[in-house]
Amino acid sequence: MKKNRRSFIKGSAIALSGSLLVPIACQSSSKPGNNKTAAGKLTLSFEPYELQLKHTFTLASSSRTTTPVMLTKLEYDGYTGYGEASMPPYLGESHETAQRFLSKVDLSGFSDPFLTEDILAYIDSIAPGNCAAKASVDIALHDLIGNILEIPLYKLWGLNPDHTPNTSFTIAIDTPEVVRQKVLEAADFRILKVKLGGGNDREMINAVREITDVPLCVDVNQGWTDKHTALDLIHWLKEQGVVFIEQPMPVEDLDEIAWLTEKSPLPVIADEAVQRLKDMIGLKGIYSGVNIKQMKCTGLREAWKMINFARAYGMTVMLGCMTETSCGVSAAAQLSPMVDFADLDGNLLISNDVFEGVKVIDGKLTLPDRPGIGVIKTGDIL
Ligand SMILES: [Mg+2]
Repeated sequence: MKKNRRSFIKGSAIALSGSLLVPIACQSSSKPGNNKTAAGKLTLSFEPYELQLKHTFTLASSSRTTTPVMLTKLEYDGYTGYGEASMPPYLGESHETAQRFLSKVDLSGFSDPFLTEDILAYIDSIAPGNCAAKASVDIALHDLIGNILEIPLYKLWGLNPDHTPNTSFTIAIDTPEVVRQKVLEAADFRILKVKLGGGNDREMINAVREITDVPLCVDVNQGWTDKHTALDLIHWLKEQGVVFIEQPMPVEDLDEIAWLTEKSPLPVIADEAVQRLKDMIGLKGIYSGVNIKQMKCTGLREAWKMINFARAYGMTVMLGCMTETSCGVSAAAQLSPMVDFADLDGNLLISNDVFEGVKVIDGKLTLPDRPGIGVIKTGDIL
């Protein structure tokens, strides 16, 4: 039995490394299977959960205090992988849509979890949209195969954990008093992300600058409407130590954004304008960078492809997240050595995390030395 397991793992690891175009070490596992699931059978389970935000989260167009998530678990031959779908309301997914989608998933046709391209192509074909629900399966599957091989995903991808970037911490739109308080609470971070577009942009930045001189990035969430006013603001923001501008204007204003990108002294990053790999084609000449998020692009596998595509375009690459538990954030963090900027603070904005994983130490993402996405479940769920 042990010999069979070794040859199964070895063969699968070679197949996996071929699909990702990186060499990986083959490892055998002495961890015995147990009777939780039958050998050769992939079993998906899921459970809805409601994240409680520490502060009311206000963007240019909305405000909320909770985020619905769906937590997933894939089991195979005694091994487990965890995943997550985070569904902020503006993206159109909910507990109901995720439940409906995940109920349709039938993995009985797959007996080898290392056939990730096949499995995820099937997941993607079940229904259009449902990107966060699809990501919850993708993340659990990657966690599972990392756990079977007993190596962290960053090693599977050949990435150096010392090359993780600092993560930004998000300061949402608020009054100067609250902004100053939030910046004081974010003293451990080496870069802050300030949400603008709420009509008090200079007031927000001035409040931040009263407390700290760390580099800032700015996310407007499509909140600016006039390109000339936007350009004036960007010049002022550069003087205030801002390093890039994310989604300054509505996604449909392509000509205005292209004009702004050409004249802007700072990189202009697409967020709402891009979801999946196929959307990357339309960004060239309009934006100089891209914010890639698992919940928009169906998970780690497509995020990895998008990062490489963006590099081929010479674009600035940023890795972002929604409000998520440490499950989703730790998964994204596995890819972070590949990117220029990380905005992976979603787990730090909630008060009821049910996983432990990636840590922020002196502002820098610090990957746990654990297999898969590197998480331990700490809550009574799944
Ligand atoms: Mg954004």
